[in-house]
Amino acid sequence: MIRGVSMRVTEVLEQIDEVCQQYDKPKPLVICVSKTYPCCAIEEAYSYGMNDFGENKVQELLEKIEQIDLPINWHLIGHLQTNKVKYIIDKVKLIHSIDSIKLLNEVNAQAKKHGIISNVLLQINVSKEESKYGFYEEELDNVLAHVTTLTNVQVKGLMTIAPFVENPHDNAKYFSRLYEIYVDIQKQNLDNISMEILSSGMSNDFKVAIEKGSNCVRIGTAIFGSRQ
Ligand SMILES: *Cc1c(COP(=O)(O)O)cnc(C)c1O
Repeated sequence: MIRGVSMRVTEVLEQIDEVCQQYDKPKPLVICVSKTYPCCAIEEAYSYGMNDFGENKVQELLEKIEQIDLPINWHLIGHLQTNKVKYIIDKVKLIHSIDSIKLLNEVNAQAKKHGIISNVLLQINVSKEESKYGFYEEELDNVLAHVTTLTNVQVKGLMTIAPFVENPHDNAKYFSRLYEIYVDIQKQNLDNISMEILSSGMSNDFKVAIEKGSNCVRIGTAIFGSRQ
């Protein structure tokens, strides 16, 4: 048992409830970001009702799937190399981090091989930080047009990683912009694209993200404690 996980889960869920009430928002999906934490921490969070877990590295994700015998929804949330798609394609509920046309094509090809439709999010670099992955919003029309031609990919929404900031309210503008883009795409009613999931907000800024329209938060340290 990892002491404190149950308490932190409860605290985070309470804080989320509070924001949702305050801003009249539906409860978001909470993804517990378990990267670097041991399997027992995941099992502990699971026993407190958490079902969705996110990892950012393929190798670590595969090891945990192998070791944990629970019906968990796994999410790939980090940058995905094209040559590793084949290892995870049939093991994850959702890939949050589609950041290139090349990756879209490989996910489509591997999904086709497995006879499945792969659910993905497009990662958007709203803040245009050079260090970050993700499409610029200016590229999106081309990307969306391409998605409509793919047979085995369903784009379920958008994801962003906001900058690291002292004051989470500094990120409000990015979350708001992402929401605008999301609504705009929703209105276009495109093939293979349904805007249902807006994945934004982490331990430091999930309250602001929810206030600005996020319905899927990815929370690591606030649930598991600080990483080494
Ligand atoms: C690590 C990570 C998170 C969680 O970060 P915390 O600050 O620990 O909550 C969320 N999303 C992605 C993509 C991450 O890599």
